[in-house]
Amino acid sequence: MLKDMDKLVSLCKRRGFLFQSSEIYGGLNGFWDYGPLGVELKRNVKEAWWRDMVTGHDDLATLPGAPESFDMTGLDSTIIMHPQIWKCSGHYDLFHDFMVDCRESKKRYRHDQVRGRWVEAKGKKIFVASQVGGDEGLAETEQKALKFYNLRAKNAPELAWDGPLVSLTTVQDFSQVLGPDAKELGTLTEPREFNLMFKTYVGALSGEEGAAFLRPETAQGIFVNFKNVLDSSRVKIPFGIAQIGKSFRNEITPRNFTFRSREFEQMEIEFFCHPASSPAWYQFWRNRRYKWYHDMGLAGERLQLREHHTEELSHYSCGTADIEYAFPFLPPGEYGELEGIAHRGDFDLRSHMEGKLDPHSKPDLKVELDADGKPKHRGSGKDLSYFDDITRERYIPHVIEPSAGADRATLAFLCEAYQEDSVPDENGKPRERVFLKLHPRLAPIKAAVFPLVNKDGMPEVAERIYRDLKKSFVSFYDAKGAVGRRYARQDEVGTPYCITVDGQTLTDQTVTIRERDTLRQWRVKADDCAAEIRGLLEKDL
Ligand code: ATP
Repeated sequence: MLKDMDKLVSLCKRRGFLFQSSEIYGGLNGFWDYGPLGVELKRNVKEAWWRDMVTGHDDLATLPGAPESFDMTGLDSTIIMHPQIWKCSGHYDLFHDFMVDCRESKKRYRHDQVRGRWVEAKGKKIFVASQVGGDEGLAETEQKALKFYNLRAKNAPELAWDGPLVSLTTVQDFSQVLGPDAKELGTLTEPREFNLMFKTYVGALSGEEGAAFLRPETAQGIFVNFKNVLDSSRVKIPFGIAQIGKSFRNEITPRNFTFRSREFEQMEIEFFCHPASSPAWYQFWRNRRYKWYHDMGLAGERLQLREHHTEELSHYSCGTADIEYAFPFLPPGEYGELEGIAHRGDFDLRSHMEGKLDPHSKPDLKVELDADGKPKHRGSGKDLSYFDDITRERYIPHVIEPSAGADRATLAFLCEAYQEDSVPDENGKPRERVFLKLHPRLAPIKAAVFPLVNKDGMPEVAERIYRDLKKSFVSFYDAKGAVGRRYARQDEVGTPYCITVDGQTLTDQTVTIRERDTLRQWRVKADDCAAEIRGLLEKDL
Protein backbone atom coordinates (compact mmCIF):
# COMPACT_ATOMS: atom_id res chain seq x y z
CA MET A 1 0.00 0.00 0.00
CA LEU A 2 1.32 3.40 -0.99
CA LYS A 3 2.53 5.51 1.93
CA ASP A 4 4.90 7.92 0.28
CA MET A 5 3.00 10.05 -2.21
CA ASP A 6 6.23 11.30 -3.80
CA LYS A 7 6.84 7.85 -5.27
CA LEU A 8 3.54 7.95 -7.13
CA VAL A 9 3.98 11.56 -8.22
CA SER A 10 7.37 10.70 -9.67
CA LEU A 11 6.06 7.57 -11.41
CA CYS A 12 3.21 9.58 -12.90
CA LYS A 13 5.62 12.07 -14.41
CA ARG A 14 8.26 9.57 -15.49
CA ARG A 15 5.80 7.26 -17.23
CA GLY A 16 3.50 9.88 -18.69
CA PHE A 17 0.42 9.70 -16.51
CA LEU A 18 0.33 13.28 -15.28
CA PHE A 19 2.23 16.46 -15.99
CA GLN A 20 1.96 19.86 -14.45
CA SER A 21 0.06 22.10 -16.86
CA SER A 22 2.18 24.63 -18.78
CA GLU A 23 5.27 23.12 -17.23
CA ILE A 24 7.78 24.68 -19.62
CA TYR A 25 6.53 28.10 -18.50
CA GLY A 26 6.89 27.23 -14.85
CA GLY A 27 3.47 25.61 -14.45
CA LEU A 28 0.11 26.96 -13.39
CA ASN A 29 -1.06 26.11 -9.91
CA GLY A 30 -4.16 23.89 -9.78
CA PHE A 31 -4.03 22.67 -13.39
CA TRP A 32 -2.84 19.26 -14.59
CA ASP A 33 -2.34 17.53 -17.94
CA TYR A 34 -2.83 13.82 -18.49
CA GLY A 35 -0.01 12.25 -20.52
CA PRO A 36 -0.21 9.35 -23.00
CA LEU A 37 -0.91 6.72 -20.33
CA GLY A 38 -2.86 9.06 -18.03
CA VAL A 39 -5.35 9.88 -20.74
CA GLU A 40 -6.06 6.17 -21.27
CA LEU A 41 -6.47 5.57 -17.55
CA LYS A 42 -8.83 8.49 -17.04
CA ARG A 43 -10.84 7.58 -20.14
CA ASN A 44 -11.17 4.05 -18.78
CA VAL A 45 -12.47 5.43 -15.47
CA LYS A 46 -15.05 7.56 -17.28
CA GLU A 47 -15.99 4.78 -19.69
CA ALA A 48 -16.42 2.28 -16.86
CA TRP A 49 -18.71 4.75 -15.09
CA TRP A 50 -20.67 5.55 -18.26
CA ARG A 51 -21.05 1.91 -19.22
CA ASP A 52 -22.04 0.76 -15.73
CA MET A 53 -24.41 3.67 -15.06
CA VAL A 54 -25.81 4.50 -18.51
CA THR A 55 -25.27 2.37 -21.63
CA GLY A 56 -25.00 -0.95 -19.82
CA HIS A 57 -27.86 -0.21 -17.44
CA ASP A 58 -30.55 -2.90 -17.45
CA ASP A 59 -33.79 -0.93 -17.48
CA LEU A 60 -35.90 -4.07 -17.52
CA ALA A 61 -34.58 -5.48 -14.27
CA THR A 62 -35.10 -4.30 -10.72
CA LEU A 63 -31.57 -3.92 -9.41
CA PRO A 64 -30.75 -5.19 -5.92
CA GLY A 65 -31.94 -2.63 -3.37
CA ALA A 66 -33.89 -0.57 -5.92
CA PRO A 67 -37.59 0.09 -5.33
CA GLU A 68 -38.34 -0.68 -9.00
CA SER A 69 -36.75 -0.71 -12.46
CA PHE A 70 -35.65 2.60 -13.97
CA ASP A 71 -34.28 4.27 -17.11
CA MET A 72 -30.94 6.01 -17.55
CA THR A 73 -30.00 8.49 -20.26
CA GLY A 74 -27.01 10.70 -20.98
CA LEU A 75 -26.45 14.36 -21.77
CA ASP A 76 -23.63 16.66 -22.85
CA SER A 77 -24.43 20.28 -22.04
CA THR A 78 -22.24 23.35 -22.50
CA ILE A 79 -19.67 24.68 -20.08
CA ILE A 80 -20.87 28.25 -20.46
CA MET A 81 -24.59 28.63 -19.85
CA HIS A 82 -27.05 31.42 -19.23
CA PRO A 83 -25.73 33.37 -16.20
CA GLN A 84 -29.18 33.30 -14.58
CA ILE A 85 -28.70 29.56 -14.03
CA TRP A 86 -26.00 30.22 -11.47
CA LYS A 87 -28.10 32.87 -9.77
CA CYS A 88 -31.04 30.49 -9.36
CA SER A 89 -28.89 27.52 -8.37
CA GLY A 90 -27.36 29.50 -5.54
CA HIS A 91 -23.80 29.36 -6.87
CA TYR A 92 -23.68 33.05 -7.65
CA ASP A 93 -24.46 34.03 -4.06
CA LEU A 94 -22.84 31.10 -2.40
CA PHE A 95 -19.70 31.31 -4.46
CA HIS A 96 -19.22 34.88 -3.29
CA ASP A 97 -17.87 33.70 -0.03
CA PHE A 98 -16.08 35.72 2.58
CA MET A 99 -12.92 33.97 3.62
CA VAL A 100 -10.54 34.44 6.51
CA ASP A 101 -6.93 33.29 6.46
CA CYS A 102 -4.91 32.10 9.40
CA ARG A 103 -1.40 33.55 9.34
CA GLU A 104 -0.18 30.84 11.67
CA SER A 105 -1.65 27.63 10.21
CA LYS A 106 -1.88 29.03 6.65
CA LYS A 107 -5.40 27.63 6.51
CA ARG A 108 -8.31 29.45 4.94
CA TYR A 109 -11.87 29.25 6.25
CA ARG A 110 -15.25 30.42 5.21
CA HIS A 111 -16.04 33.31 7.51
CA ASP A 112 -19.59 32.11 8.20
CA GLN A 113 -18.54 28.54 8.82
CA VAL A 114 -16.21 29.26 11.70
CA ARG A 115 -17.93 29.06 15.07
CA GLY A 116 -16.72 29.58 18.56
CA ARG A 117 -17.49 30.70 22.12
CA TRP A 118 -16.30 33.39 24.42
CA VAL A 119 -14.46 32.30 27.51
CA GLU A 120 -12.62 34.01 30.33
CA ALA A 121 -9.90 32.66 32.63
CA LYS A 122 -6.87 34.08 34.38
CA GLY A 123 -8.24 37.59 33.79
CA LYS A 124 -8.24 37.26 29.98
CA LYS A 125 -11.25 36.94 27.70
CA ILE A 126 -10.90 35.24 24.32
CA PHE A 127 -13.04 33.80 21.51
CA VAL A 128 -12.14 30.14 20.91
CA ALA A 129 -12.95 29.17 17.32
CA SER A 130 -13.76 25.79 15.84
CA GLN A 131 -14.95 24.41 12.53
CA VAL A 132 -17.36 21.96 14.10
CA GLY A 133 -20.67 22.59 15.77
CA GLY A 134 -22.81 20.80 18.35
CA ASP A 135 -21.35 18.75 21.17
CA GLU A 136 -18.19 18.16 19.18
CA GLY A 137 -17.69 21.92 18.91
CA LEU A 138 -18.24 22.35 22.66
CA ALA A 139 -15.73 19.64 23.45
CA GLU A 140 -13.18 20.99 20.99
CA THR A 141 -13.41 24.57 22.23
CA GLU A 142 -13.00 23.37 25.81
CA GLN A 143 -9.87 21.40 24.90
CA LYS A 144 -8.44 24.38 23.05
CA ALA A 145 -9.21 26.78 25.90
CA LEU A 146 -7.56 24.48 28.47
CA LYS A 147 -4.46 24.30 26.33
CA PHE A 148 -4.41 28.03 25.70
CA TYR A 149 -4.69 28.90 29.42
CA ASN A 150 -2.35 26.08 30.32
CA LEU A 151 -4.92 24.40 32.54
CA ARG A 152 -5.43 20.73 33.34
CA ALA A 153 -8.72 19.01 32.54
CA LYS A 154 -9.63 18.92 36.21
CA ASN A 155 -9.42 22.74 36.25
CA ALA A 156 -12.07 23.06 33.56
CA PRO A 157 -14.46 24.76 36.03
CA GLU A 158 -12.03 27.74 36.03
CA LEU A 159 -13.13 28.48 32.48
CA ALA A 160 -15.95 31.01 32.59
CA TRP A 161 -17.91 30.50 29.36
CA ASP A 162 -19.93 33.42 28.09
CA GLY A 163 -22.71 32.16 25.83
CA PRO A 164 -23.13 29.23 23.39
CA LEU A 165 -21.31 28.51 20.13
CA VAL A 166 -21.85 31.45 17.79
CA SER A 167 -20.65 32.34 14.30
CA LEU A 168 -17.37 34.18 13.82
CA THR A 169 -19.45 36.75 11.91
CA THR A 170 -20.64 38.06 15.31
CA VAL A 171 -17.08 38.93 16.37
CA GLN A 172 -15.74 42.44 15.70
CA ASP A 173 -12.25 42.33 17.20
CA PHE A 174 -10.16 39.57 15.65
CA SER A 175 -7.24 40.19 18.00
CA GLN A 176 -9.16 38.24 20.66
CA VAL A 177 -9.83 35.25 18.41
CA LEU A 178 -8.01 31.94 18.78
CA GLY A 179 -8.29 30.50 15.22
CA PRO A 180 -9.51 26.91 14.66
CA ASP A 181 -5.97 25.61 14.06
CA ALA A 182 -3.93 28.29 15.81
CA LYS A 183 -2.04 28.31 19.08
CA GLU A 184 -1.83 32.09 19.33
CA LEU A 185 -4.43 34.82 19.42
CA GLY A 186 -5.18 37.20 16.56
CA THR A 187 -3.83 35.13 13.67
CA LEU A 188 -6.98 35.40 11.53
CA THR A 189 -7.11 38.06 8.83
CA GLU A 190 -10.12 40.29 8.19
CA PRO A 191 -12.73 38.58 5.98
CA ARG A 192 -12.14 38.99 2.25
CA GLU A 193 -14.56 38.29 -0.55
CA PHE A 194 -13.68 35.40 -2.76
CA ASN A 195 -15.50 34.14 -5.82
CA LEU A 196 -14.98 30.53 -6.76
CA MET A 197 -16.58 30.83 -10.20
CA PHE A 198 -14.38 31.76 -13.14
CA LYS A 199 -15.84 34.75 -14.91
CA THR A 200 -15.64 35.28 -18.64
CA TYR A 201 -17.30 37.42 -21.31
CA VAL A 202 -19.47 36.21 -24.15
CA GLY A 203 -19.36 38.01 -27.49
CA ALA A 204 -17.60 41.21 -28.40
CA LEU A 205 -18.88 43.19 -25.43
CA SER A 206 -16.70 42.99 -22.38
CA GLY A 207 -19.25 44.83 -20.23
CA GLU A 208 -21.37 43.22 -17.52
CA GLU A 209 -24.11 42.33 -20.05
CA GLY A 210 -21.72 39.85 -21.64
CA ALA A 211 -20.52 38.41 -18.34
CA ALA A 212 -20.84 34.66 -17.89
CA PHE A 213 -19.28 31.90 -15.84
CA LEU A 214 -17.46 28.66 -16.50
CA ARG A 215 -19.64 26.03 -14.85
CA PRO A 216 -18.54 24.98 -11.37
CA GLU A 217 -20.53 21.73 -11.70
CA THR A 218 -22.17 19.79 -14.50
CA ALA A 219 -25.40 19.23 -12.55
CA GLN A 220 -27.16 22.46 -13.55
CA GLY A 221 -26.88 21.57 -17.25
CA ILE A 222 -28.97 18.51 -16.41
CA PHE A 223 -31.65 20.36 -14.44
CA VAL A 224 -32.22 22.95 -17.14
CA ASN A 225 -32.56 20.15 -19.73
CA PHE A 226 -34.92 18.05 -17.61
CA LYS A 227 -37.95 18.99 -19.71
CA ASN A 228 -36.08 18.54 -23.00
CA VAL A 229 -35.03 15.02 -22.07
CA LEU A 230 -38.51 14.17 -20.83
CA ASP A 231 -40.18 15.47 -23.98
CA SER A 232 -37.72 13.98 -26.45
CA SER A 233 -37.21 10.49 -25.08
CA ARG A 234 -39.70 7.99 -23.76
CA VAL A 235 -38.35 7.99 -20.25
CA LYS A 236 -40.76 7.98 -17.35
CA ILE A 237 -40.11 8.69 -13.74
CA PRO A 238 -38.09 7.22 -12.08
CA PHE A 239 -35.15 7.89 -14.39
CA GLY A 240 -31.68 9.37 -14.29
CA ILE A 241 -29.70 11.71 -16.54
CA ALA A 242 -25.94 11.33 -16.48
CA GLN A 243 -23.26 13.70 -17.65
CA ILE A 244 -19.48 13.71 -17.72
CA GLY A 245 -17.66 16.97 -18.30
CA LYS A 246 -15.27 19.66 -17.25
CA SER A 247 -16.00 21.89 -14.28
CA PHE A 248 -14.05 24.86 -13.06
CA ARG A 249 -13.59 26.28 -9.58
CA ASN A 250 -11.12 28.95 -8.66
CA GLU A 251 -10.09 26.96 -5.60
CA ILE A 252 -8.40 29.05 -2.96
CA THR A 253 -5.78 26.49 -2.13
CA PRO A 254 -5.32 23.93 -4.91
CA ARG A 255 -3.20 21.12 -3.53
CA ASN A 256 -2.58 17.43 -3.09
CA PHE A 257 -1.77 16.65 -6.70
CA THR A 258 -4.99 16.51 -8.73
CA PHE A 259 -7.21 16.16 -5.66
CA ARG A 260 -8.08 19.84 -5.53
CA SER A 261 -7.66 21.28 -9.01
CA ARG A 262 -9.11 24.39 -10.58
CA GLU A 263 -10.13 22.57 -13.74
CA PHE A 264 -11.45 19.04 -13.27
CA GLU A 265 -13.95 16.57 -14.62
CA GLN A 266 -17.14 15.48 -12.96
CA MET A 267 -19.35 12.46 -13.49
CA GLU A 268 -22.79 13.36 -12.26
CA ILE A 269 -26.21 11.76 -12.21
CA GLU A 270 -29.45 13.53 -11.43
CA PHE A 271 -32.01 10.89 -10.62
CA PHE A 272 -35.63 12.05 -10.73
CA CYS A 273 -38.22 10.21 -8.66
CA HIS A 274 -41.53 10.53 -6.84
CA PRO A 275 -41.16 12.34 -3.47
CA ALA A 276 -42.65 9.40 -1.57
CA SER A 277 -40.05 6.94 -2.80
CA SER A 278 -37.10 9.35 -2.72
CA PRO A 279 -35.67 8.16 0.65
CA ALA A 280 -35.54 4.58 -0.68
CA TRP A 281 -33.84 5.77 -3.89
CA TYR A 282 -31.33 7.73 -1.84
CA GLN A 283 -30.40 4.55 0.04
CA PHE A 284 -30.15 2.66 -3.23
CA TRP A 285 -27.82 5.18 -4.87
CA ARG A 286 -25.46 5.60 -1.98
CA ASN A 287 -25.04 1.85 -1.65
CA ARG A 288 -24.74 1.32 -5.36
CA ARG A 289 -22.13 4.02 -5.83
CA TYR A 290 -20.08 2.76 -2.89
CA LYS A 291 -20.15 -0.74 -4.37
CA TRP A 292 -18.93 0.63 -7.71
CA TYR A 293 -15.67 1.93 -6.24
CA HIS A 294 -15.33 -1.27 -4.28
CA ASP A 295 -15.76 -3.42 -7.40
CA MET A 296 -13.31 -1.26 -9.34
CA GLY A 297 -10.53 -2.02 -6.89
CA LEU A 298 -10.86 0.28 -3.87
CA ALA A 299 -11.72 -2.73 -1.80
CA GLY A 300 -9.55 -2.08 1.21
CA GLU A 301 -10.13 -0.21 4.43
CA ARG A 302 -9.15 3.06 2.80
CA LEU A 303 -12.62 3.40 1.29
CA GLN A 304 -15.51 4.52 3.45
CA LEU A 305 -19.08 5.71 3.16
CA ARG A 306 -19.80 8.56 5.56
CA GLU A 307 -23.34 9.66 6.24
CA HIS A 308 -23.57 13.36 7.09
CA HIS A 309 -24.81 14.33 10.54
CA THR A 310 -28.31 15.73 10.50
CA GLU A 311 -26.98 19.18 11.42
CA GLU A 312 -24.74 19.15 8.32
CA LEU A 313 -27.76 18.65 6.05
CA SER A 314 -29.63 21.41 4.33
CA HIS A 315 -33.10 21.18 5.80
CA TYR A 316 -34.76 20.09 2.55
CA SER A 317 -32.44 17.11 2.31
CA CYS A 318 -33.24 13.85 4.02
CA GLY A 319 -29.75 12.52 3.52
CA THR A 320 -26.28 13.18 2.19
CA ALA A 321 -23.40 10.74 2.20
CA ASP A 322 -19.84 11.04 1.02
CA ILE A 323 -17.78 8.23 -0.41
CA GLU A 324 -14.31 8.91 0.88
CA TYR A 325 -10.83 7.57 0.43
CA ALA A 326 -7.92 7.78 2.85
CA PHE A 327 -5.46 9.35 0.40
CA PRO A 328 -1.83 8.88 1.47
CA PHE A 329 -1.23 12.65 1.52
CA LEU A 330 -3.82 13.12 4.27
CA PRO A 331 -3.00 12.76 7.95
CA PRO A 332 -3.76 9.29 9.40
CA GLY A 333 -7.47 8.88 10.05
CA GLU A 334 -8.50 11.56 7.55
CA TYR A 335 -10.41 10.88 4.38
CA GLY A 336 -10.94 12.90 1.18
CA GLU A 337 -14.23 13.03 -0.73
CA LEU A 338 -14.48 11.02 -3.95
CA GLU A 339 -18.19 11.45 -4.45
CA GLY A 340 -21.15 13.00 -2.70
CA ILE A 341 -24.61 11.46 -2.87
CA ALA A 342 -27.31 13.92 -1.91
CA HIS A 343 -31.05 13.82 -1.56
CA ARG A 344 -31.89 17.25 -2.94
CA GLY A 345 -35.67 17.18 -2.71
CA ASP A 346 -37.29 19.45 -5.31
CA PHE A 347 -34.90 22.32 -4.57
CA ASP A 348 -33.24 22.47 -8.00
CA LEU A 349 -36.23 22.07 -10.29
CA ARG A 350 -38.27 24.52 -8.23
CA SER A 351 -35.42 27.05 -8.20
CA HIS A 352 -35.31 26.97 -11.99
CA MET A 353 -39.08 27.38 -12.16
CA GLU A 354 -39.80 29.96 -9.48
CA GLY A 355 -36.49 31.62 -8.70
CA LYS A 356 -33.73 31.04 -6.20
CA LEU A 357 -35.14 29.42 -3.10
CA ASP A 358 -34.04 30.36 0.34
CA PRO A 359 -32.50 27.16 1.71
CA HIS A 360 -33.22 28.32 5.25
CA SER A 361 -36.93 28.99 4.77
CA LYS A 362 -39.13 26.67 6.78
CA PRO A 363 -41.21 24.58 6.79
CA ASP A 364 -41.57 24.83 2.98
CA LEU A 365 -38.94 26.39 0.80
CA LYS A 366 -39.81 29.91 -0.29
CA VAL A 367 -38.37 32.09 -3.01
CA GLU A 368 -35.68 34.38 -1.64
CA LEU A 369 -36.83 38.01 -1.85
CA ASP A 370 -34.88 41.23 -2.22
CA ALA A 371 -35.43 44.45 -0.25
CA ASP A 372 -38.42 45.35 -2.45
CA GLY A 373 -40.11 42.02 -1.84
CA LYS A 374 -39.35 40.79 -5.38
CA PRO A 375 -37.56 37.48 -6.12
CA LYS A 376 -33.86 38.01 -5.58
CA HIS A 377 -33.06 35.88 -8.64
CA ARG A 378 -35.91 35.15 -11.02
CA GLY A 379 -36.46 31.61 -12.30
CA SER A 380 -37.28 30.62 -15.89
CA GLY A 381 -41.03 30.63 -15.28
CA LYS A 382 -41.21 27.32 -17.19
CA ASP A 383 -43.23 24.45 -15.78
CA LEU A 384 -40.81 21.70 -14.75
CA SER A 385 -43.40 19.52 -13.06
CA TYR A 386 -44.15 15.95 -14.12
CA PHE A 387 -47.48 14.42 -14.96
CA ASP A 388 -47.91 10.74 -14.25
CA ASP A 389 -50.48 9.60 -16.80
CA ILE A 390 -51.26 6.39 -14.92
CA THR A 391 -51.93 7.85 -11.47
CA ARG A 392 -53.06 11.21 -13.00
CA GLU A 393 -50.82 12.92 -10.47
CA ARG A 394 -48.82 16.08 -11.20
CA TYR A 395 -45.80 16.77 -9.02
CA ILE A 396 -42.28 18.20 -8.97
CA PRO A 397 -39.91 15.26 -8.88
CA HIS A 398 -37.41 14.83 -6.12
CA VAL A 399 -33.77 14.45 -7.01
CA ILE A 400 -31.03 12.12 -5.82
CA GLU A 401 -27.64 13.36 -6.96
CA PRO A 402 -24.58 11.08 -7.03
CA SER A 403 -21.82 13.54 -7.92
CA ALA A 404 -18.35 12.13 -8.56
CA GLY A 405 -15.01 13.52 -9.69
CA ALA A 406 -13.17 11.68 -12.47
CA ASP A 407 -9.80 13.08 -11.41
CA ARG A 408 -10.19 12.18 -7.75
CA ALA A 409 -11.35 8.68 -8.67
CA THR A 410 -8.38 8.27 -11.03
CA LEU A 411 -6.01 9.43 -8.30
CA ALA A 412 -7.54 7.06 -5.74
CA PHE A 413 -7.25 4.13 -8.17
CA LEU A 414 -3.58 5.00 -8.73
CA CYS A 415 -2.87 5.28 -5.00
CA GLU A 416 -4.59 1.99 -4.25
CA ALA A 417 -2.91 0.21 -7.18
CA TYR A 418 0.65 1.19 -6.32
CA GLN A 419 2.49 -1.90 -5.02
CA GLU A 420 6.05 -2.91 -4.33
CA ASP A 421 7.35 -6.43 -4.07
CA SER A 422 10.36 -8.50 -4.94
CA VAL A 423 10.52 -10.96 -7.83
CA PRO A 424 13.30 -13.21 -9.13
CA ASP A 425 14.94 -11.95 -12.32
CA GLU A 426 16.07 -14.13 -15.29
CA ASN A 427 18.99 -15.37 -13.20
CA GLY A 428 16.87 -16.08 -10.14
CA LYS A 429 18.16 -13.08 -8.22
CA PRO A 430 15.53 -11.10 -6.27
CA ARG A 431 14.67 -7.80 -7.89
CA GLU A 432 12.58 -5.00 -6.42
CA ARG A 433 9.43 -4.51 -8.42
CA VAL A 434 6.98 -1.62 -8.62
CA PHE A 435 3.65 -2.49 -10.15
CA LEU A 436 0.24 -0.94 -10.49
CA LYS A 437 -2.39 -3.46 -9.51
CA LEU A 438 -5.05 -1.69 -11.53
CA HIS A 439 -8.35 -3.36 -12.29
CA PRO A 440 -7.97 -4.69 -15.88
CA ARG A 441 -10.85 -2.42 -16.97
CA LEU A 442 -8.81 0.58 -15.86
CA ALA A 443 -5.34 -0.48 -17.02
CA PRO A 444 -4.15 1.89 -19.79
CA ILE A 445 -2.54 -0.99 -21.71
CA LYS A 446 -4.21 -4.39 -21.58
CA ALA A 447 -1.47 -6.51 -23.12
CA ALA A 448 2.15 -6.14 -24.26
CA VAL A 449 3.92 -8.34 -26.79
CA PHE A 450 7.65 -9.03 -26.69
CA PRO A 451 9.74 -10.92 -29.23
CA LEU A 452 12.57 -12.29 -27.07
CA VAL A 453 15.12 -11.39 -29.74
CA ASN A 454 14.64 -9.21 -32.76
CA LYS A 455 15.48 -11.96 -35.29
CA ASP A 456 14.92 -15.61 -36.19
CA GLY A 457 11.33 -14.99 -37.23
CA MET A 458 10.26 -13.97 -33.72
CA PRO A 459 9.27 -10.40 -34.61
CA GLU A 460 6.97 -11.73 -37.37
CA VAL A 461 5.02 -13.93 -34.94
CA ALA A 462 4.98 -11.19 -32.29
CA GLU A 463 3.75 -8.58 -34.77
CA ARG A 464 0.94 -10.86 -35.88
CA ILE A 465 -0.23 -11.35 -32.30
CA TYR A 466 0.11 -7.65 -31.59
CA ARG A 467 -2.03 -6.67 -34.58
CA ASP A 468 -4.62 -9.22 -33.60
CA LEU A 469 -4.80 -7.92 -30.03
CA LYS A 470 -4.97 -4.33 -31.18
CA LYS A 471 -8.27 -4.96 -32.90
CA SER A 472 -9.90 -5.38 -29.50
CA PHE A 473 -7.93 -3.33 -27.01
CA VAL A 474 -4.96 -1.10 -26.30
CA SER A 475 -1.80 -3.18 -26.75
CA PHE A 476 1.88 -2.39 -26.77
CA TYR A 477 4.75 -3.83 -28.78
CA ASP A 478 8.20 -3.75 -27.24
CA ALA A 479 11.24 -5.29 -28.87
CA LYS A 480 13.92 -3.36 -26.99
CA GLY A 481 16.09 -4.31 -24.01
CA ALA A 482 16.34 -7.32 -21.72
CA VAL A 483 13.03 -9.09 -21.31
CA GLY A 484 13.12 -8.55 -17.52
CA ARG A 485 13.34 -4.82 -18.16
CA ARG A 486 10.41 -5.00 -20.53
CA TYR A 487 8.29 -6.81 -17.94
CA ALA A 488 9.28 -4.22 -15.35
CA ARG A 489 8.21 -1.38 -17.60
CA GLN A 490 4.80 -2.93 -18.12
CA ASP A 491 4.34 -3.79 -14.43
CA GLU A 492 5.02 -0.20 -13.53
CA VAL A 493 2.13 1.04 -15.67
CA GLY A 494 -0.25 -1.74 -14.69
CA THR A 495 -0.41 -3.89 -17.87
CA PRO A 496 -2.20 -7.08 -16.77
CA TYR A 497 -0.76 -9.45 -19.42
CA CYS A 498 2.56 -9.77 -21.24
CA ILE A 499 3.16 -12.19 -24.11
CA THR A 500 6.64 -13.36 -25.01
CA VAL A 501 7.65 -14.99 -28.27
CA ASP A 502 10.80 -17.09 -27.76
CA GLY A 503 12.90 -19.88 -29.23
CA GLN A 504 10.33 -22.52 -28.38
CA THR A 505 7.71 -20.60 -30.37
CA LEU A 506 9.62 -21.41 -33.54
CA THR A 507 9.49 -25.13 -32.86
CA ASP A 508 6.01 -25.62 -31.34
CA GLN A 509 4.20 -22.35 -32.20
CA THR A 510 3.45 -21.57 -28.56
CA VAL A 511 4.05 -18.31 -26.69
CA THR A 512 4.26 -17.47 -22.99
CA ILE A 513 1.59 -15.40 -21.27
CA ARG A 514 2.56 -13.82 -17.96
CA GLU A 515 0.08 -12.41 -15.46
CA ARG A 516 1.02 -9.16 -13.70
CA ASP A 517 -0.26 -9.83 -10.18
CA THR A 518 0.46 -13.52 -9.71
CA LEU A 519 3.47 -13.73 -12.07
CA ARG A 520 1.91 -16.96 -13.29
CA GLN A 521 3.28 -17.99 -16.69
CA TRP A 522 1.80 -20.48 -19.12
CA ARG A 523 2.10 -21.33 -22.77
CA VAL A 524 -0.60 -21.18 -25.39
CA LYS A 525 -0.62 -21.63 -29.14
CA ALA A 526 0.39 -18.38 -30.83
CA ASP A 527 -2.79 -18.49 -32.90
CA ASP A 528 -4.95 -18.83 -29.78
CA CYS A 529 -3.15 -16.08 -27.88
CA ALA A 530 -5.44 -13.16 -28.74
CA ALA A 531 -8.54 -15.22 -27.94
CA GLU A 532 -7.02 -16.30 -24.63
CA ILE A 533 -6.20 -12.73 -23.57
CA ARG A 534 -9.62 -11.57 -24.72
CA GLY A 535 -11.20 -14.29 -22.61
CA LEU A 536 -9.14 -13.35 -19.57
CA LEU A 537 -10.03 -9.69 -19.92
CA GLU A 538 -13.69 -10.30 -20.62
CA LYS A 539 -13.88 -12.11 -17.31
CA ASP A 540 -13.17 -8.71 -15.76
CA LEU A 541 -14.65 -6.30 -18.30
P1 ATP B 1 -14.70 19.57 -1.52
O1 ATP B 1 -15.48 19.75 -0.23
O2 ATP B 1 -13.60 18.55 -1.44
O3 ATP B 1 -14.28 20.85 -2.17
P2 ATP B 1 -17.23 19.51 -2.73
O4 ATP B 1 -18.09 18.93 -1.65
O5 ATP B 1 -17.21 20.96 -2.97
O6 ATP B 1 -15.73 18.97 -2.54
P3 ATP B 1 -18.95 18.72 -4.79
O7 ATP B 1 -19.40 20.08 -5.08
O8 ATP B 1 -19.86 17.80 -4.05
O9 ATP B 1 -17.54 18.77 -4.06
O10 ATP B 1 -18.47 18.07 -6.16
C1 ATP B 1 -18.66 16.70 -6.46
C2 ATP B 1 -17.35 16.01 -6.75
O11 ATP B 1 -16.58 16.76 -7.68
C3 ATP B 1 -16.44 15.84 -5.55
O12 ATP B 1 -16.81 14.72 -4.79
C4 ATP B 1 -15.10 15.67 -6.20
O13 ATP B 1 -14.89 14.34 -6.61
C5 ATP B 1 -15.19 16.55 -7.43
N1 ATP B 1 -14.53 17.84 -7.16
C6 ATP B 1 -15.06 18.93 -6.56
N2 ATP B 1 -14.15 19.91 -6.48
C7 ATP B 1 -13.01 19.43 -7.04
C8 ATP B 1 -11.71 19.97 -7.27
N3 ATP B 1 -11.41 21.21 -6.93
N4 ATP B 1 -10.78 19.20 -7.88
C9 ATP B 1 -11.08 17.93 -8.25
N5 ATP B 1 -12.27 17.38 -8.07
C10 ATP B 1 -13.24 18.10 -7.48
